[in-house]
Amino acid sequence: MSNSTEQESRLLDSVPTGLLIGGQWIAAASGKVFDVEDPATGKVLISVSDAGSEDAMAALDAADKAQETWSRTAPRERAEILRRAFDLVTERADDFALLMTLEMGKPLAEARGEVTYGAEFLRWFSEETVRDYGRYLTTPEGKNKILVQHKPVGPCLLITPWNFPLAMATRKVAPAVAAGCTMVLKPAKLTPLTSQLFAQIMLEAGLPAGVLNVVSSSSASGISGPLLADPRLRKVSFTGSTPVGKRLMADAAQNVLRTSMELGGNAPFIVFEDADLDQAVEGAMAAKMRNMGEACTAANRFLVQESVAAEFTRKFAAAMGALTTGRGTEPATQVGPLIDAGARDDVHALVSAAVDAGATAITGGSPVDGPGYFYQPTVLANVPNDAAILRQEIFGPVAPVTTFATEEDAIRLANASEYGLASYIYSRDFNRLLRVAEQIEFGMVGFNAGIISNAAAPFGGVKQSGLGREGGSEGIAEYTTTQYIGISDPYAG
Ligand code: NAD
Repeated sequence: MSNSTEQESRLLDSVPTGLLIGGQWIAAASGKVFDVEDPATGKVLISVSDAGSEDAMAALDAADKAQETWSRTAPRERAEILRRAFDLVTERADDFALLMTLEMGKPLAEARGEVTYGAEFLRWFSEETVRDYGRYLTTPEGKNKILVQHKPVGPCLLITPWNFPLAMATRKVAPAVAAGCTMVLKPAKLTPLTSQLFAQIMLEAGLPAGVLNVVSSSSASGISGPLLADPRLRKVSFTGSTPVGKRLMADAAQNVLRTSMELGGNAPFIVFEDADLDQAVEGAMAAKMRNMGEACTAANRFLVQESVAAEFTRKFAAAMGALTTGRGTEPATQVGPLIDAGARDDVHALVSAAVDAGATAITGGSPVDGPGYFYQPTVLANVPNDAAILRQEIFGPVAPVTTFATEEDAIRLANASEYGLASYIYSRDFNRLLRVAEQIEFGMVGFNAGIISNAAAPFGGVKQSGLGREGGSEGIAEYTTTQYIGISDPYAG
């Protein structure tokens, strides 16, 4: 066995494989397990317990039982648990990075970047915990006082996707801990291992039993269905695709649950003729290729002003064509595999349809042969404006380029989507930025910046990209309710 394989085996052996319910790692009631695969090899890494409805209800029982005591803990106590968790995740950064590379495929360097980003939610919300202010004021008539306080919303169901296994969990768990909520976390079936290890770290950081329960499962609706129907659950926070989010919102309506929905995107990357083109290419690489394009913030449509389109496309294609594809554990790898065969085939179907409709593949355009689910970094030029690849999330390393004539055209094309999550603008003109930002319907705008995710910023979308914000000072509010107390003022005249 090589050193790296030994390191992988040791790490996999250290990951809890049970369900976390009431502070104990236990087997699923059915005794069933499911396999977790390495997408770079298609081989099984390890099996984990497969939760069913009965386990989901046991997890909610534990969360409900812990809720009252947990909601009364001092904010400083919750803050210090989060801070210790930040330190522990940071100490074990190499383990978390390798685990994400193994189960999800991203190159190790990117996985390390996700550890930094994901851990930052723990530190950020540890700081926010003690600064969740209410208010006290006199009514306009001067007769009464208004007292406004925040309370934890109650037990939450947290459902995360496979593309950022650590950050999507910490972005929900940290504000829920800060607010004093208990949780049932259901990680994505394809990448449960990072959440399993993270939950163990939360216990080591001092999180009391029952506050965080983890039910990894091969049947998502078998978990969410009964939980959403139970009146003890008070909130669902979901990150994933828009169709699943819509279904969960419909189910959540039955008990009028609070919902946070971080859904799909179709980010425009707009390059104006006054942009620094080299900076735009660098930003395009980051906005497109982070996570092999498997990001909700991934630039999905490159809208380039006609006069600079040829030069931008040439430079961009050269940079994309020079990338090294391979298993994420190899030091030279810059582009890992897609998550599974279906994902790779969906990407290729979009590329083929665009080429059939008249687009040209300047670089790439095909799946890579061999084991694993690799796709060539691809730049498509002359993509017709009605091509499906410009309307759907690509979720792969493919960049369709299309052109526009005027600023008004760019805004109209950017807004021609039911999504409104991330957008990117490249220009040297700050006035233009403000003008365009006013008019485009997106929750987030990167100005000369290809990566905009940050724990201190409110992340989220408009239109069918979702509801609510994660991170920033807004993040904690997703887990609190507001209580108003009207007080008669005995000294008022
Ligand atoms: P997905 O919707 O298939 O799955 C997300 C999660 O929901 C997983 O845990 C999955 O098991 C669960 N799920 C699936 N069907 C369910 C059902 N019927 N009931 C309850 N839960 C169910 O999405 P995915 O493929 O894991 O992730 C990719 C999608 O997530 C993309 O659309 C991407 O844009 C989106 N995403 C959004 C953000 C954001 O912050 N806006 C961040 C990352 C990913």
